[in-house]
Amino acid sequence: MRLILLGAPGAGKGTVAKLLTKVDGSVQISTGDILRGAVQAGTELGKKAEAFMKAGDLVPDDLIMGIMETRLQEPDCAKGFLLDGFPRTIPQAEALKTLLAKLGIELDVVANIEVPRQEILNRLTTRRTCVNPQCQAIFNVRSQPPKVDGVCDKCGSPIVQRDDETEEAISRRLDTYDEKTSPLIEFYRQEGLLLVVDAPTSEGVVNAITTRING
Ligand code: AMP
Repeated sequence: MRLILLGAPGAGKGTVAKLLTKVDGSVQISTGDILRGAVQAGTELGKKAEAFMKAGDLVPDDLIMGIMETRLQEPDCAKGFLLDGFPRTIPQAEALKTLLAKLGIELDVVANIEVPRQEILNRLTTRRTCVNPQCQAIFNVRSQPPKVDGVCDKCGSPIVQRDDETEEAISRRLDTYDEKTSPLIEFYRQEGLLLVVDAPTSEGVVNAITTRING
């Protein structure tokens, strides 16, 4: 399947993407994971992106499009892809449309995962992420704690609160979402691709998406 997962930070896009990869082998492409990996590895991309990310601001569109143009042409995308955290602005959505047309690829659906603001705030302030760039597993100190406090169940690395998950950065990310990303809902409605999902669990969201794709 070829789809875009839209939704505010903390809406569960990453969790849903991971569940969907198991359905048909489509790959999850998370621009946030790619950027965090680049920051930790200290690459040129990472150096350019770091300050924006720490502040909870978006990284410039041209950097993101550079990443995506390369990533979407890698062989593992042939089976399908789940875009998680991209596009985030109208210019990114326009550029993606042009890129997909050039590559001869059609999207199946754009799923907008709707979660109430208070629930988002609760989730983000209690979220913890594995520091290992190859893992980046997500835990929640309340609803999904690791077996050993502060240690990733999957790879044994430390799990931490992300720099952009302080209350100040979170509120900035949510404002940025409202201003720059939420207009994409209308954009994709007009493209005839939008599916609005407000299921309370990630499994429910996955069901709604697979039902729509399988007709
Ligand atoms: P995420 O893990 O998707 O919440 O992304 C973390 C941070 O990476 C965001 O707050 C942005 O600073 C940056 N980022 C991720 N994806 C994008 C994108 N498509 N456009 C611009 N910035 C992005």
